Amino acid sequence: MKPHDAQPDRRNFLQHSLLGTAGASMALASTSHVTVAAEPDNQPTHEATISNHVDVLVVGGGTAGTIAAIQAGRTGAKTMLVERGSQLGGTMTTGGVAFPGLFDAWGKQVIAGIGWELVRESVELDGGELPNFAKVPQRHWQNQVYTNQFLYAILAEEKCHKAGVELAYYEFPQAAKRVADGWQVDCVGFGTQRRILCKQIIDCTGGAEVVGLLGFDRLREEVRQPGSMLFKIGEEHQPGREQVHRLYVHGADSSNSRTVTQANLTGRRSVLAKVRAEKKRLMHLQPETGFRESYRIVGETMVTVNDYTSGRQFDDAISNAFYPVDLHTKTGVRPKPLKPGTVPTIPLGALIPKGSRDLIVAGRCLCSDQLANSGLRVQASCMGMGQAAGVAASLAAQTGTTPMEVPLAEIHKVLREHGAIIPGKA
Ligand SMILES: Cc1cc2nc3c(=O)[nH]c(=O)nc-3n(C[C@H](O)[C@H](O)[C@H](O)COP(=O)(O)OP(=O)(O)OC[C@H]3O[C@@H](n4cnc5c(N)ncnc54)[C@H](O)[C@@H]3O)c2cc1C
Repeated sequence: MKPHDAQPDRRNFLQHSLLGTAGASMALASTSHVTVAAEPDNQPTHEATISNHVDVLVVGGGTAGTIAAIQAGRTGAKTMLVERGSQLGGTMTTGGVAFPGLFDAWGKQVIAGIGWELVRESVELDGGELPNFAKVPQRHWQNQVYTNQFLYAILAEEKCHKAGVELAYYEFPQAAKRVADGWQVDCVGFGTQRRILCKQIIDCTGGAEVVGLLGFDRLREEVRQPGSMLFKIGEEHQPGREQVHRLYVHGADSSNSRTVTQANLTGRRSVLAKVRAEKKRLMHLQPETGFRESYRIVGETMVTVNDYTSGRQFDDAISNAFYPVDLHTKTGVRPKPLKPGTVPTIPLGALIPKGSRDLIVAGRCLCSDQLANSGLRVQASCMGMGQAAGVAASLAAQTGTTPMEVPLAEIHKVLREHGAIIPGKA
């Protein structure tokens, strides 16, 4: 018998334990294994340009873009979704604003469809509670839906997969130009260059980034609303059950990587100062600042605050919206509730960059003045717009026309088939 067989030294003992049966079963008990699927098109992923031919390209997989892509896929369009971040959901998941609203107004649901399906399923899977929309709350925020941001992001991926949407994370358009059959969009990511030929683009970047890249006009306020960094100190965060704490990041600007970096540094520094001042544990911190406002398009139709607060029923309305006018300033926010019975609508024209073809936006960058936008930018409204843009773009791709020329009745019909609520018909 060799001496070390009889008397294993401590180093050998550890190696045996880790490699032996006991160690293996311990590892199995605490670790599940998954295998990454091969690239869908099996193309090399570095130093080569990957090509995609699609009907609909959605840029930005946030609150609106996720829904637009799922809808386009479900309508039968070959759809690709390019997102510069690492997951779906945008402000809702990466920003941590996981309390979407408002799907209801004055005792009934006014926005439904794919956004609601995703929110409802996230809450049900999480064992959470849905608000009772039949009851008119005293404060608007009481009917926001506490949603588990982590589950929402994964469920969104599952729904994209089922709808046949191809996802490209960590990528963003660098150049775009008109070609015979639509658009050529060149995207970059680390180790990746991608050329996408598409018939229609849906810009859901929040700040109309593609619209800007293509040279169409955009609007931006000199003094914008602050952003917010979301975090929790002192107590454990319970996702899907509560809102987290927020710190205003004044001057936050989402228009480029330098200003976003600056906002994140400022936000995190403020959180650190708070932790030091309050001597409490940091239990949760979102990876990015949430931005309330940046560029909006100059569209075929501008929604003004009068349109919004009077609940104007636009002839080309494609979705409802509901929220107080909610302008955050240096001194805070005082939401101005809408008058009883008022349900604003969103016209298709506010999603179309003026003078454009084969291009539509959805989300907070729709054409609206600052005050109207402060109400329109909320998540249920963004989801409603996303679904409508998904229908308009995919029908336009199918029929070789442009979203503004697709007959409104056709858009409404497909939206209704996919569970959406059409203004005036709720
Ligand atoms: C702090 C805060 C509190 C809020 N409170 C509420 C609330 O209580 N209730 C409510 O309903 N709403 C609230 N809102 C508003 C709401 O969350 C947002 O306005 C809405 O989510 C915006 O949706 P979006 O789809 O337009 O943009 P986002 O959800 O921001 O999505 C944009 C996506 O595009 C991606 N992107 C951007 N540029 C590019 C590019 N060039 N290429 C590829 N991808 C790109 C981004 O990474 C992101 O994923 C709040 C917002 C903030 C910031």
